Formats: sequence, C-alpha cells, structure tokens
Amino acid sequence: MENNNTLLIKNVIFPDKSKKDIYIENGYIVRIACGINKKTKYKIDCCGKKAILPGLINGHTHSAMSFLQGYADDLALKKWLEKKIWPVEKQMRPEDIYWATKLACLKMIKTGTTCFNDMYWMPEISIKAITEMGLRAIIGLSLIDILPGGDKKVVEKNWRIFKAHNYRNISFSIATHAIYTVCKKNLVWAKNFAKKNNLLLHIHLSETKEEVDDCIKKHGMRPVEYLDKIGFLGKNCILAHSIWLSDKEINILKIRKCNVVYNPCSNMKLGSGIFPYPKLNKANINICIGTDGSASNNSLDLFEEMKFASLLQKAYNKNSAIMSTKEIFNITTQNAANALRINSGIIKIGKLADLVLIDLKNICLIPNHNFLSNLVYSCNGSCVSDVICNGKILMRNRRIKDEDKIIKESQKRIKILFNKNKGRSKNKGRSKNKKDNISVSVNAVIYYKIIHAEKAILEVQRLYHAVSQLAQTTMRNAVGQVSLDQLLSERESVSESIRTIIDKATDAWGIKVDNVELKDITLPEEMKRVIGRQAEAEREKRAIIIKAEGEVIAANNMAKAACTLANSSGALHLRTLQSLNDISSDQSNTIVFAIPLEVLRAFETISNKGNKDKILLSKKSENQ
Ligand SMILES: [Zn+2]
Repeated sequence: MENNNTLLIKNVIFPDKSKKDIYIENGYIVRIACGINKKTKYKIDCCGKKAILPGLINGHTHSAMSFLQGYADDLALKKWLEKKIWPVEKQMRPEDIYWATKLACLKMIKTGTTCFNDMYWMPEISIKAITEMGLRAIIGLSLIDILPGGDKKVVEKNWRIFKAHNYRNISFSIATHAIYTVCKKNLVWAKNFAKKNNLLLHIHLSETKEEVDDCIKKHGMRPVEYLDKIGFLGKNCILAHSIWLSDKEINILKIRKCNVVYNPCSNMKLGSGIFPYPKLNKANINICIGTDGSASNNSLDLFEEMKFASLLQKAYNKNSAIMSTKEIFNITTQNAANALRINSGIIKIGKLADLVLIDLKNICLIPNHNFLSNLVYSCNGSCVSDVICNGKILMRNRRIKDEDKIIKESQKRIKILFNKNKGRSKNKGRSKNKKDNISVSVNAVIYYKIIHAEKAILEVQRLYHAVSQLAQTTMRNAVGQVSLDQLLSERESVSESIRTIIDKATDAWGIKVDNVELKDITLPEEMKRVIGRQAEAEREKRAIIIKAEGEVIAANNMAKAACTLANSSGALHLRTLQSLNDISSDQSNTIVFAIPLEVLRAFETISNKGNKDKILLSKKSENQ
C-alpha cells in the first residue's frame, strides 16, 4: 500500500467505452476528464488497456472465517454451525482472527472488493487487520447470547473506545447474530443503542425454514413479524439471507425500508433455500449481495457471486430475463453502498475513490461484445489488475504488499488451530484427572442387559446411544475424582463406582448394568517420561538404603571381633602376624615396622657393643 494523497489514473476505459483520466485527491474523485495534466505523487497510465469499475461491495460476510474454507461441506446450517464451525471458532485466539482477517482481505483485494460488511467477534483485532490492509469495512459489534464477549456490556465498552477514533475506512454496526441466538431483551437493547448512536443493525434473518418454524413455535409469529413487533426493524437494518419470507413479511420490510442481503452461494451450499428476488425487487426493497463467510461459500470473489446470483434466479423462476447484468452489477455496487451508508458504488466526482481496474487483455474478456456481460458471466477475480481504496493503491498489477507474509503466517496459524481442534474432538474417552491435573485417555467396556424391554423402548430414545453417553460422562466424573496413582492401582474399585452410578441411573430405562471394565489407560507422553524418571529414582533410593543397612551390620560385626581380640592375650599379635603374612604375599608392598626405642636399648645393653641409637629397618622391596 502506497501512502498517497494524490493519484492520477490516465487513459482508462469507462464502462461506456470512453477513455478518460481520473484525478484523485485525499481519497475522493476530484476530476474526470480527457488529458488531465496534473503533477501527482502517484500515477497509473492504463494506455487504454484497462477498464475502471467502482469497487465491489460485499454486503454480508464473516472475514475471519477464511481459515474455515472447505472445512465443513455438505451439511445443513444448524448441524454445520453446532458440530463443525462453532467448536473451531471457540478455539480461535486473537492471532488467528488477525491473520484470518488479513487473509480474507487479501482474497477480497485480489478479486476487486473494496468494502465489506463484517460480522465477527474481537472487533479490535479485525479493525487492526483491515486498517493495515487498507480496505473499507463496516465492523459489527457482536451481540450473541451463547458466546463469551458477545454481551451488551462489551458492545458498550467497545463502542466507547472505537467512537473516539476517527477511523477513515471503518464504520460500525451492532451485529445481533440472529433471533435464535439473541434474546428479545437484547434485541430491543441493540435497536435502541443503534438508534441512539446512529449505527447500522446487522442480523441473520430467516435463513432456514427451521428458523421460521422455531420462531412460530416460540413467539407465535414469523421472524419479521416478531422483529417488527419489538420495534427492531428500520432503514438501518441489514438483513442477511431473508429467504423464508411471507408476502406479509415482505410488505413489513418495504414499510420499514429495510435492506436485505442475497447470499446465493452460501444459501445453495447449505441447502437453505432460494432468495425471493422477484417479490423483493417488486416491493422496491434495497437488495445487496454477500458472500457470507468463507466456510459456507467457499470463496470471497464477488464476480463469481454475481454470476451465481443471476443464474440461480433465472433457473428457479424459469425466466431468463430476471436479474439482468445491469441489475446484479448495481446490487453489488450502488445498492450496497446505499445500504451501508458509504459514499461510493459509482464513479463520479465527489465520490470516494474506491476503484478497481480490469485488465482488458485478460482472456476472460475476449471477445468483448458487451463489457457488463463479460463482467457478470465471464470474469472472475483474476481479471482485476489494480485496486484503489480511499485513493490509495492496494494492489498494483496484481501484487499486494506483504501478501507472501500473510499467506505464510496464515498457513502456520491454520496448522496450529486445526491440530488443536483435532485433539479436542477426538477426546471422547479423555478425562482430566482433577486431583492431580493429569489428562488420561481411558477406554472402558460396559456390560448390561435389558430386564424390562417395555421401559427400554418407551422410556428412552436411542437406548444404546443414551447408555453410551451416560457411561462416558460418568466415567469422566469418576476418573476425575481420583489421583493417577489411585486410578492405576485401584482400577477395580473405580470401575465398581462407575458401575453403581450407571446402574442406578439406568434403572428407569429397564437396564441392569453387570460390569464396567476399565481397559486401556493411556497417559500422555510427557507423563510417561515423568513416571519413568520417578521409577528410576525409586530404584536408586532402594539401592542406597540397602548399602547403608549392610554397612551398619558390618560395623557391628567388626566391633564384636575387636572385643574378642582385645580379651584374649596374644590374639592381637597373631592377627598382626597373619596380616603381615597376607601383605607380604604381594611383592609390590613395602612394610615398615615401628619398634619402640626402649626395646632397642635393651638389645644394646645385652650386646654391650652398640653406640648408636638405631631403628632397625627391615626392608623388603622389589629391588632386593
Ligand atoms: Zn452469515
């Protein structure tokens, strides 16, 4: 991204095939004419080989879901969210969201998107990533009852912080996830908060038939009727999906001047249904287009989205005239800009310089009978050569600053995140040993018999599954109550306590639990090493004790022997002579006798010859 205040785009082709120059200053289009000769800091000369478009706008996405692209396919929304998406998202750390958002921005820039309406949590991280990438975005301050950090206090706190910043490229919405994840009280609060602070309200609405059925069951009315009743709906509402709408609901949306977002690929992929375009268009409701998150699309390319959007409507309504190229292009630019309150979506003096250059030499545009037709039906993101947002060049000849680094870091984070998640989902039999905080994997077998067939059928649904689930939870609890040593040494009593609990709990299902056997207890690698070291230390301790005990016995015996020698006269001499004999057997030893002087004097007296005080030395050495 180059830091420029002035930019001149020369000889660029407009959709009406005219060739002009565009002068940009401080992020806005200031002049459009032929032959502009102004000295600017940055200049792009297209030489008539590139066409210009307003930047495309993604009306509904979850940018940080880029890490989940291709992770869960062929599932319906509810199962897809609960079994696959939410478990991974719960593991996502700020650095994951940061790189995932950057990766999404990279993909969007590469495919000509300059602005997107985002719904995710950790808005401060998204803002950092998006600002660094230079894109424009509406950041949702998320309100969702089931996630930590999705409550109104956090929204209030974040808004206090964010509104103090005068972000150039970032504006805000209150992103109430959906009517099935946000309670009535919070929806009403969000509506009032958005009104008071002049914010957009972003929500998933009537995406599936199930959602509508649940709403009728819970509130006695359809989702749009429910939202209207609590006063939620207004022209600041961006309603993502809006598939399952009755005529009455469409009329309410018209009266309330709401904006709706068509997400064709996501709706098709999740089998959610088909957006009622003809009815909404007839009612003059403002329609935008969105990709939704990368996990349900699996692309952020709005060129592809435009094509799918149009073709799906033509096929479903059996009408080739429906959703023309002009209509879908306007939906992706002007309509979205209006809904998101962005002064862009059209190339005009005074509008924001959010612009995209298309390489007319790209094979997708040959032949070029109809530029708009090529854009919608033949192009994809790879036709985009340059992207400018807020007057700054984000991509020049398909190169984006730091793109290699973003790809590398993202791959690194993806590997860590999904390895972590793999470990978590495989842990069916894993239990944390609460007493000593060690995780162990335990395999167990449960033997039981049905003693009341009637109860087993009538009192429980999916008996085998229920017993298995109960056994797993009980095992986790029971194993969690004991230390690792107890678990390893008192396996039988732990099994018995599990059996007793399960047996009692399954009485109502007509089941008698005969036995529970804990089979394999697998310890983590680190724990195995620790136990190995402990066993080694134990053996060393025993060896030292045995040696010390031996020394005590030896010392006692020696003391006894010394006593015996001392009590028998001459015994010590005999012992000394015996020792001399032992020593002299080895020629390498030298023996020195120390004889008292008085003894020698006695010899001197006897011989009368001696005049010298001498010590007799008897020497025996290897030299003699
Ligand atoms: Zn969505």
